[in-house]
Amino acid sequence: MSEAGSGRTVVVAGGGLAAAKTAEALRGEGFEGSIVLVGAEAVVPYERPGLSKGYLQGSAERASLDVHPADWYADNAVDLRLGAAVTALDVAGHAITTADGDRTRYDTLVLATGSRARRLDLPGADAAGVHHLRDVGDSERLRAALRPGARVVVVGGGWIGLETAAAAVTAGAQVTVVEVAELPLVRVLGPEVARVFDDLHRAHGVDLRCGVGVRDVVAGDSGEGANVVHLDDGTALPADVVVVGIGAAPNVELARDAGLELGGRDTGGGVCVDEHLRTSHPDVLAVGDLAAAWNPLLGRRIRVEHWANALNQPAVAARTALGVPASYDRPPYFYTDQFELGMEFTGWFDPTQPYDLVVRGDLDSREFVAFWLVEGVVAAAMNVNVWDVTEHLGLLVRSRATPPAAHLADPAVALADLAEG
Ligand SMILES: Cc1cc2nc3c(=O)[nH]c(=O)nc-3n(C[C@H](O)[C@H](O)[C@H](O)COP(=O)(O)OP(=O)(O)OC[C@H]3O[C@@H](n4cnc5c(N)ncnc54)[C@H](O)[C@@H]3O)c2cc1C
Repeated sequence: MSEAGSGRTVVVAGGGLAAAKTAEALRGEGFEGSIVLVGAEAVVPYERPGLSKGYLQGSAERASLDVHPADWYADNAVDLRLGAAVTALDVAGHAITTADGDRTRYDTLVLATGSRARRLDLPGADAAGVHHLRDVGDSERLRAALRPGARVVVVGGGWIGLETAAAAVTAGAQVTVVEVAELPLVRVLGPEVARVFDDLHRAHGVDLRCGVGVRDVVAGDSGEGANVVHLDDGTALPADVVVVGIGAAPNVELARDAGLELGGRDTGGGVCVDEHLRTSHPDVLAVGDLAAAWNPLLGRRIRVEHWANALNQPAVAARTALGVPASYDRPPYFYTDQFELGMEFTGWFDPTQPYDLVVRGDLDSREFVAFWLVEGVVAAAMNVNVWDVTEHLGLLVRSRATPPAAHLADPAVALADLAEG
């Protein structure tokens, strides 16, 4: 190929953050060939975190969600095809087909089809008044339903469920969260820090029902009466609004039907990519929520449904597409805002495996840095209402540091001094 790649075509399938950042990174690398971005949604790519936070609460403007202003795409010669789902992938013929039957050839394809909200598989799951939260329309419909006094039942005490519960309380609703585990977020944080979120929500009047599942949803009469959510223990919860926040599933259909390798259950079945973000076909890459990527820092394959991953993987994918050596080895990074609690989490650990928790600060006052050590190595860290430490925590995790627990816990020891190498 010519140095700037003119004459080549990169097609990006998907219309979210990872897709938009891929187009941006290709131009940033000096690529002068064609970029075609095909997105199923009818609007320009936008970021989703605000959908359960400021945008849901009405404090963030719609335009603040957009990755780039609408004219950025034309200004950067990106052929943006919106409202156009890619329906088939022919890896041998190097072509995709869209819903309208259009066939587009590519030299490199970047899959960025993200994930979708999981649905409850039980009676009444599709009743009117049952909401999911994945796209901007979902957020707008939910915002309209979160009226003062509304009875809201949130199914699932994960990140999106808890953020939605906080938004609903802020809107004046009466909120119940139903979580099948013994604590919200226990599967990602372990019990000690999960309890912080449990306490936070109870302190704000959220009725948390843990250790119990949902049996069914019985629809209200003629669209007027409330739905009733029945729990496994026999409880009946009247609900003007039901929000289902039980996780996301990667949109792998294109990749699967094209015969690309998919990950196992441990990665939620994403599309397998190596550290260069290449799938099992050398001319097809995958980024963002979709990608089950080999992470050389962690020495394992992970699929990360986090904003930062969708933001940062595209730079590596763009270089790989252009033949420039690059690997994605960042530790996962995630943030949340709920009520007055702001937190950032860096790293990865499995709470079902042995770990040691070290806390700098105070869990009860919700102002602390937590460190999860696995065999003495700082595997993950989280700052809650403590700011300007993310860079240091990232370095600690990246350097696989083994500082003494007493130093980690001691606020007098600078975090900047604890990273190794
Ligand atoms: C409500 C909400 C709150 C969140 N909050 C946070 C947060 O606080 N912090 C954080 O780190 N992360 C958060 N996330 C996660 C973060 O938004 C995702 O990790 C990120 O959106 C992933 O970007 P993506 O581009 O890979 O996928 P997506 O955002 O899912 O975008 C994929 C796009 O591809 C399109 N598409 C799918 N199939 C096709 C097809 N066949 N053809 C064409 N287009 C297709 C989809 O319609 C969609 O537009 C949140 C997510 C949600 C839903």
